[in-house]
Amino acid sequence: MSGSKAAHRGDMAAQLISGHGCFRSYLKRFGHEDADDCPWCGGGRSETAEHVLFSCVKYARERSSLETVLGGRLNADNLVPFMLQGEAKWQAVNSFAAAITTELRREESPRIIEKKYFEKIGGVRRGWRRIKDATIKLRMLRERFATDVSSLNNALEDVFCET
Ligand SMILES: [Zn+2]
Repeated sequence: MSGSKAAHRGDMAAQLISGHGCFRSYLKRFGHEDADDCPWCGGGRSETAEHVLFSCVKYARERSSLETVLGGRLNADNLVPFMLQGEAKWQAVNSFAAAITTELRREESPRIIEKKYFEKIGGVRRGWRRIKDATIKLRMLRERFATDVSSLNNALEDVFCET
C-alpha cells in the first residue's frame, strides 16, 4: 500500500469517528435525508458514528473480525487506545472504518446524488435544455460506473466541481 493510500484510509477512520461522514444523522442536518433512523436496526436508532462503529447489526461480521485482531470488544472508550497499540491494530481499525464508509457511500449514492445534483444545477444553471443534458450525463455516469462505486464517486465529484 502506498503512503498516500494509507493516509487516505486513515482519513476515513477520522471522518467516521468525527461523524462528518455519510450518516443519516449528518445528512439530515443538511436537509439531504428526511429521517436519520438506521435502515438496518430501526427502532428509532439514529445512524450515527457511534451506532455504526459499535452496535449496528449491518457491520456485525466486520466488527467481529476486527475484535479478533484487537483482542477485545470495541467501544467508544477503547477505540483510540486500541489503535495506539501498534500498526496491525491501527490498520485493522482503519480497514473497518473504510469498509463502513464505502458501504455508507454506496447506500447514499442512489438516494442523495441525484438530489444534490439537481439542487446544484437548479441553482446555478436555469433552463430545461441544460437540465436535460445534465440528466443524460448523470444517467450515463451511473450506468458506466454501476458496479464501481469509487469510480462513480470520483466521476460525480468531477461533475459537481464543474463551473
Ligand atoms: Zn444499525
